[in-house]
Amino acid sequence: MNLQTSERLFAEARTLLPGGVNSPVRAFRAVGGQPIFVERGEGAYLVDVDGNRYVDYVLSWGPLILGHAHPDVVAALHNAILRGTSYGAPCPQEIELAKLIIQAMPNLEMVRFVNSGTEATMSALRLARAYTGRSKIVKFEGNYHGHADLLLVQAGSGVATLGLPDSPGVPAATVADTLTARYNDLGAVEAIFERMGGEIAAVIVEPVAGNMGLVPPQPNFLAGLRKLTQEAGSLLVFDEVMTGFRVHPGGAQTLFDIIPDITALGKVIGGGLPVGAYGGPRAIMEMVAPAGPMYQAGTLSGNPLAMTAGITTLRGLSAPGVWKGIERQGARLMAGLAAAAEESKIPVQISRVGTMFGMFFADRPVTDWPTAKRADTQRFARFFQAMLAGGVYLAPSQFEAGFLSSAHGEREIDQTLAAASEAFAGLASS
Ligand SMILES: *Cc1c(COP(=O)(O)O)cnc(C)c1O
Repeated sequence: MNLQTSERLFAEARTLLPGGVNSPVRAFRAVGGQPIFVERGEGAYLVDVDGNRYVDYVLSWGPLILGHAHPDVVAALHNAILRGTSYGAPCPQEIELAKLIIQAMPNLEMVRFVNSGTEATMSALRLARAYTGRSKIVKFEGNYHGHADLLLVQAGSGVATLGLPDSPGVPAATVADTLTARYNDLGAVEAIFERMGGEIAAVIVEPVAGNMGLVPPQPNFLAGLRKLTQEAGSLLVFDEVMTGFRVHPGGAQTLFDIIPDITALGKVIGGGLPVGAYGGPRAIMEMVAPAGPMYQAGTLSGNPLAMTAGITTLRGLSAPGVWKGIERQGARLMAGLAAAAEESKIPVQISRVGTMFGMFFADRPVTDWPTAKRADTQRFARFFQAMLAGGVYLAPSQFEAGFLSSAHGEREIDQTLAAASEAFAGLASS
């Protein structure tokens, strides 16, 4: 495979951008080698600057549920851009996207649009603190909620501990009110609530974890969180930035029938443009300025291009047969991967929830961050490189979810499974 142009660009990028990228995982540090530079995306494919084509399972880390450059999205954006790129004043598209989201998610009566998932979770927690008048937040190890200071904590093992910051530059005081617990460990959360339930503003959770690889919630975990928070007068915040319109058209809250107080969204709702949102019942959302006292603002929030891409994407996703079609190809992909791994006697843990999937090189089930960390990352790195050479672009880390789109058809899945058979066989023989 010729990667000369990518190699030259990456060398130059490293002199201009920290690590050569604008978001860390893109740099391929977890898998070795170096990133491909993308020339264009078309449907299920990425084409790199050296002309190599890959079936893409990253899809910009989730947003592109209709695939790259979907004709309807492109046409709608083309129309929108002729009328200007940003107004900094209300536009009708904000109402339209808000309605589509509110119809889909059970407990949303109002939403506020922002520009990223990071902003969505950060603002959702500010809102939870404003609404409850409390300061403590509970989050889970291995759950990622963007890079806001108060959430850059994963520390603690087993029993909940006072968080230590994960990154230099995050003062200990900033995360002093952020408590962490093990994912899927309701007992740990109960213990926290016993000690300090009255001080907890919110529990924030990825209802299906997608940022430590894909780790579904165990039965009763989410229901238990709902009950604990309700009894203590704390809010339950579902970070559905990844799972919203991905695990079910109505999000994880519909799939599992658990109603959070506040929902954070991003990724799919922007259809590939920068959008985030947070929402909930009117009584909570009317705390947000200018309806209420909690301040939160954005120069580009509700941007007409971003709203247009989101509207067109959500409409496309709800067209008859689209969701079912993605799930059908997802089921074929999972069955094929499991069979190929089995044939080469490579132990893997494969899972799928709606249009998201994950695969750990591990011989025991993965239910939380400690068990995820036991997975064989070196094996994953070799698998990743073999898949890339076979024309399949996976996320360059074992601790990321995979994503499907409506553009992934029979042919793309077959190509992926052929590459996977070879990749597993290569692992078995080395
Ligand atoms: C991607 C992601 C975020 C952060 O969103 P950005 O748009 O990257 O800021 C937050 N929460 C979850 C669950 C995510 O997957």
